Amino acid sequence: MIKLLRFLKPFRLYVAIVIILSFLQAIANLLLPTLMADIVDSGIVKGDTQYILRVGAIMLAVTVGGMICAIASSFFSSRAGTGFGKAIRRAIFSHVQDFSLHEFDKVSTASLITRTTNDTTQVQMVMVMGLGMMIGAPLMAIGGVVLAVSQDGALAWLLAGVVPIVFAVLYVLMGKAVPLFKSMQAKLDKLNHVLDEGLTGVRVIRAFNRMDHENQRFDEANLDVTNTALTVNRIMAVLWPAMMLIFNLSSIVMFWFGAIRINNGQMQIGNLLAFLQYAMMIMFSVLMVSFMFVIVPRASAAAARINEVLGIAPDIHDPVQPKSADAIKGHVAFEDVTFSYPGAEEPALSNVSFHAKPGEVTAIIGGTGSGKSTLVSLIPRFYDVDSGKILIDGVDLREMTQEALRSKIGFVPQKAVLFAGTVAENIRYGKEEASDEEVKRAAEISQASEFISGMAGGFDAEIAQVGTNVSGGQKQRLSIARALVRKPEIYVFDDSFSALDFKTDAKLREALKKETGDATVLIVAQRVGTVMDADRIIVLDEGRIAGIGNHRELMKSSEVYREIVSSQLSLEEIA
Ligand code: ADP
Ligand code: MG
Repeated sequence: MIKLLRFLKPFRLYVAIVIILSFLQAIANLLLPTLMADIVDSGIVKGDTQYILRVGAIMLAVTVGGMICAIASSFFSSRAGTGFGKAIRRAIFSHVQDFSLHEFDKVSTASLITRTTNDTTQVQMVMVMGLGMMIGAPLMAIGGVVLAVSQDGALAWLLAGVVPIVFAVLYVLMGKAVPLFKSMQAKLDKLNHVLDEGLTGVRVIRAFNRMDHENQRFDEANLDVTNTALTVNRIMAVLWPAMMLIFNLSSIVMFWFGAIRINNGQMQIGNLLAFLQYAMMIMFSVLMVSFMFVIVPRASAAAARINEVLGIAPDIHDPVQPKSADAIKGHVAFEDVTFSYPGAEEPALSNVSFHAKPGEVTAIIGGTGSGKSTLVSLIPRFYDVDSGKILIDGVDLREMTQEALRSKIGFVPQKAVLFAGTVAENIRYGKEEASDEEVKRAAEISQASEFISGMAGGFDAEIAQVGTNVSGGQKQRLSIARALVRKPEIYVFDDSFSALDFKTDAKLREALKKETGDATVLIVAQRVGTVMDADRIIVLDEGRIAGIGNHRELMKSSEVYREIVSSQLSLEEIA
């Protein structure tokens, strides 16, 4: 919680205003009963109308003043609180953008979403409510005690008996509620996780008739959250009536003893009325303070979860003195690279060495799970290698800034991702300042222009959320266009032709060859047809290189390659 206070800094003026206003408001509240006692004892009892009117006017002014302070204070504390929440949400989002893929493997997306939304709201709420209360409540409690004693010292001893009872009840009830508040967050995470899976996997769930199973899973998580919330609310429901009971019973006792004292002439009516109001003020303040004891732990649990995310130092960071690499253009060299995913028993890549040269096409082929995607994801430094190194234009990529490195690369991931927006905007994602001509050309090369002109609105056609209104092959071609428009030094295509038919695949590669010219091209593929005419083919098998060479050489030298070729040729022959 304390750590998060730095996000409150820009609003320190508002915080100061809120503190001053709540101070004034508390003073106004404390003044009123004393003024009232004056009216009753000196005005009404003596029948002095002038006095009543004069003090009454002061009371009215104090009330209005207090009200203005209350309104203004909640206005500024809302401003500060919501601004604080916004700053935290922005900090989480931009921090998460800096994560390497390692960190994403550690914290689930569902949990990140809960932390950015629900947890931040908790912290924000404490700020909005707490800012005024933290000053007002203690001040009213202490001021109330002082003024109550000044009204009647003997009756004040009654207060000393009541307040501990209030504390005891609060202690018991809160002790039960607070742990439940904390477990609530974890349960919400779980619920979000099930919801996330249920929505993103909806097609699979339908296809396999698992709706009932998913519904049941959701119901379980939902019920868990509901039950916890119900238990918490039951406890809180007991709290309020219990407090009111204590307040009212103690009022009766005070009236009783007050009446005796008035009868004996030791006290005046006005004093008793004022005293009762102070007593209420004290008890309400105690209630408010203990209410803070409920929401503060809940918010601090939320704050801890936020800090956990903010505290994850990304594995991958830029060097202090970055080197730039512009000697040669787009030369990629792997030198004895070994890499394992965290927690994996076997390395995903072992002792991989090869060179990919500008103006050449380097293809990577291998079975599913052989490490092809892993290999290419090391080039934009999504992960860092365990040992060995990767050189780009002779410079270790860990010595460059990530921005400089990635600006050299046009990356087409295995799973094509589009964003909400138009077709043209999606292609421009590769290069913001690309002209209409460049966008059109990129679409032509990636064989996308034909289907784009078929879409209503052409390049201005809207892509639905996560690209549901385009087919897998169309998505792939758009994400290829996005990489092409950058005109990078290094092209990486991770299985980017898999959803294309043979004819489109061939046409695309034909057009690509002209476009890529002197750039370095790395193509990951499953089909032999896609890689056959590459300058260099790397055969991967269980993370190791099983052969490097062109098609002809590999047919002679590599058993694994021959197997891949023969399996595919026979399949095509049968078809
Ligand atoms: P390919 O692209 O050749 O099909 P991958 O490079 O995707 O293969 O995967 C290689 C191996 O690494 C597989 O055994 C896979 O289970 C593992 N792997 C891939 N991604 C991850 C990840 N994010 N965390 C842990 N293991 C992974
Ligand atoms: Mg792959």
